[in-house]
Amino acid sequence: MLVGLALRPAPLALALLILLVDGIIAMSGDGSVDLGPLPCTSTPKGCTDSAEVSRTDLPPAVHAADFCPNTGYLCSELNASGSELRLSEIWLQRWRDPGGTMVVHVPLPEIDDPAIARALQRAAAQGVRAWNNQPFPVLADLRGDRNPHFAIQWTSSLGGTQIGLARTRWSESNGLEVDYLALGIRAVHGRAGWADPAQIRLTAAHEMGHALGLGHSDSERDVMYPTNTATSVSARDRRSMEVLYETPDGTVIRR
Ligand SMILES: [Zn+2]
Repeated sequence: MLVGLALRPAPLALALLILLVDGIIAMSGDGSVDLGPLPCTSTPKGCTDSAEVSRTDLPPAVHAADFCPNTGYLCSELNASGSELRLSEIWLQRWRDPGGTMVVHVPLPEIDDPAIARALQRAAAQGVRAWNNQPFPVLADLRGDRNPHFAIQWTSSLGGTQIGLARTRWSESNGLEVDYLALGIRAVHGRAGWADPAQIRLTAAHEMGHALGLGHSDSERDVMYPTNTATSVSARDRRSMEVLYETPDGTVIRR
């Protein structure tokens, strides 16, 4: 997600290190959603830990009226109709340089049914590769014999109807990095058994979007919508990512 700057104490102060946790939730049968527990509490959009330093070499702020047209959903949180979700400014955070190909380790989940384990691993790899060449090559490493930028973690304990979770950190010196990207292996909404591979593919694509710096979309057709209502990465998802990587890291967009 894009960071909510409400926690930034003064216009010229800047968080040296920002940690963001953001998850995707499964659509329940009646259309309601359960955000589930988050590891820390702050805004409805995630949580932030920060240490203040002076703003130094970051690019100047831009005005929404100039920047936002034709940027996909990069500015959607400036325009959100719900007052709690409406931000006064958005801080763009992205990778500086992954050094060629971004390598993501996608391990085999520890499930006692080898066929299901392989199906979930393949589905997660497809979701990771959905962003290949947008903006740089992305390799899903199934064997773990490459040095990865980060690894996917399989978990059975995301809670509620949460099916994926990404935690990123951003610093002025290094730009965006990923602490972890977790996918739930179990079915949700009270169903027994393992997660649906199609859902794992979409969830992996959503969390990879966060890992690359995207926030949430305001359209159910985009993979970055907060619930799993999309079917694939959309043209609007790709446009938003393209603009994010055309814009200097650390740019603040103000209403
Ligand atoms: Zn999300």
